[in-house]
Amino acid sequence: MKLVQCWDDGVTTDVRLVSLLRRHGARATFNLNAGLHKQKRQLGWHHGDTEVWRLARGELREVYDGFSIANHTLTHPHIDQLPIDAARREIGEGRTCLQTLFDQPVSGFVYPFGTFDEVVAQAVRDAGHVYARTTRAADLGVSTIDPMAAAASCHFLAPDFWQRLDRARPSGVFGFWGHSYELVDEAMWSAFEASLARLCAEPGVQWCDPTDLFDGDSP
Ligand SMILES: [Zn+2]
Repeated sequence: MKLVQCWDDGVTTDVRLVSLLRRHGARATFNLNAGLHKQKRQLGWHHGDTEVWRLARGELREVYDGFSIANHTLTHPHIDQLPIDAARREIGEGRTCLQTLFDQPVSGFVYPFGTFDEVVAQAVRDAGHVYARTTRAADLGVSTIDPMAAAASCHFLAPDFWQRLDRARPSGVFGFWGHSYELVDEAMWSAFEASLARLCAEPGVQWCDPTDLFDGDSP
C-alpha cells in the first residue's frame, strides 16, 4: 500500500509532528508559503482557543530536513479571486523561493483554501508543477486523473478515515492531509500517533511523495 500524507501552512506545531514522523519512519510532504515566514516566528491566526504560529524563515530547512516540500503560493491568498498576473506571481514566486530556500526541486502545489478555477490550474501547470492538490476527498484512493485537481482520500480527522482506507485498498494508494495545529491537545496527539503506528503496520507499506504518483509527463 502506498501512503501519502500532506501537511499545510508551515506552523510551529510541525516541529512536534516531524519528530513523531521521524520516530515512525514515515515520509510526508509539507506545503509552505515562502512569503509568510519572517525573521522571527509570527502569530498567524487562532484555531479555536489556540494560537497558530508560523515558523521563522531561518528554521525551515532544519525543521523539514528529510521531508518533501511543496508550494502553497507565496502568501496564501484566495488565488482564484486575484487578477491573473498576481496569481501567476503568487504561484511562480512561491515555487522559486522554496527551491532557493530548500535547495531542492519543488514540483507539487496545493491550492490555498482548496479553491481554484481552470485559469489558475493552467497557471500552476505553466509554472512547472506536476500536480496540484485540492481539499476535495476522492471517493476511492487518491484521485490523480486530473493532476491539476488531485484529491487525497480524506482529511486526517475524517470520521470515516479507516473505512476510507479500506475502500482505497484495492487502488493501492491512500492519502490524507491536514494541519498539525488541528492537534489541539495531548489526547489528539496520542490518537494521531496511534493512527500513524497503525498505518505503518499496513502490509507492504510504502510512504510516498505525491509526485511519485504522477509521471511528470502530463500535458
Ligand atoms: Zn493552507
